[in-house]
Formats: sequence, structure tokens, C-alpha cells
Amino acid sequence: MPDFVDLTHRLDSDIAVYPGDPPFSSCPHLTLSADGVNVARLTFGSHAGTHVDAPIHFVADGKKIDEIPPETFVGPAVVVDLTAQRELCDREEVQWADLALCEDALKARPGAILLLRTGWSRYWGTPRYFEHPFLSAEAARRIVATGVRLVGVDTLSPDETVLDEAAAAQHEYAFHKVVLGAGIVIAENLTGLDAIQDGEWVVSLLPLKLGGCDGSPVRAVAWRQGEL
Ligand SMILES: [Zn+2]
Repeated sequence: MPDFVDLTHRLDSDIAVYPGDPPFSSCPHLTLSADGVNVARLTFGSHAGTHVDAPIHFVADGKKIDEIPPETFVGPAVVVDLTAQRELCDREEVQWADLALCEDALKARPGAILLLRTGWSRYWGTPRYFEHPFLSAEAARRIVATGVRLVGVDTLSPDETVLDEAAAAQHEYAFHKVVLGAGIVIAENLTGLDAIQDGEWVVSLLPLKLGGCDGSPVRAVAWRQGEL
């Protein structure tokens, strides 16, 4: 049995969700003492915690989460450490030049899952988590051109998070629109990417098969290539 690296934040009632999304809650519905069995009642949005976005999240005729083949979510990973040269700043726009070095790695692993590490997962549960760096529209277009099947980030979103809800409605969400528009899945709120930077890794980001849904929480894990 290989050792799995867990890339998932724990779903708890106090987790931060995207501004305007429903909160996550889990409470007892049936209990051992009263009912002879424990069953929880869960309430959450489709983008709670570590999760994937289906194209229909932003694209009217895009695929729904249950229409995407499961093999899309499992495969070799290319991890790009955007902090390799320096720490990123709050709300910094990351350019294609900052990750262009991954182009060769992606060519060597066609159809790979691209995971971008900003180091922001360390701020999970703090106000600074919302001040994350984000990716430029040009980076989105160049990433699509590499032929990846899925792009994952360790932030709340690959686009800037606008806290003001009125302004959010006008926000462009260029990365989401370009990547999901190309039929490529996005994963958000990953953690632990520092543990899989060296060596060859396979990741699994399998969503729930939620009928007609635009996204789903996942249990994201990685294992060393060849160990399973
Ligand atoms: Zn999402």
C-alpha cells in the first residue's frame, strides 16, 4: 500500500466559503442514543472546501459534474511552485512568465493535471485567505494551449476574489471563463502541495456524482507514481 498525501482541507462548520456561497454545516439528524444509529444532516454549496468546478459553473452549455468521465480527475501531476523564487504578495496577478517553466514538464506528461502552488493554503481559516494571488487571462490561455486536463490551485479561486458582492457581480472571472470554456476542469482550495513538489506523483480529485451539478467537494490525494 502506498502512503497517500492528503491534499484536502477538512470540512467543518466554521470553514470559509466563497462570498455569497451557502455555508457548510453538519449536524446530527439521527443519534445512537435516541435512534440507535448515527446519521448526519449535511448542508453545503457545490464549491465547499477542497472541490472541483465543472464547465457549467461558468459556461451555459458546459459539462455538468456527473457528465465528466472519472478518469479526468485521476492522473499524473505537474506541480509548479510559484514561490520558488520569492513569496507571492496579497492579490498579486501571476503572469504566464511566472510559470512558463512548466511548459516542458507538461510536454513530457501530455494530458497531465497541473497543480499551482502559491503557498496560500497556510492562510486557510484566516481573513488573509481571501487576499490570495490570482492568475492572468494570458496565463489561462497558455495553460489551455498546453493540453492539460485539469488545473488545480491552493487558493479560494484562480481568479481574484472580490469581497464586495455588488462588485463581484461585475467581475470578469477571466481564468474560469477561459479554462472552463475550453472544457478543462478547475480544482480549488487544495492544500499540502509542498509535499508533492519533488518526484513523480499521481493525484486523484474524484468528485461526487451529483446529478446536473456545477461542482463538488472532493477528497484529493496523491501517491508516488508506480506505488499503486
Ligand atoms: Zn469552485
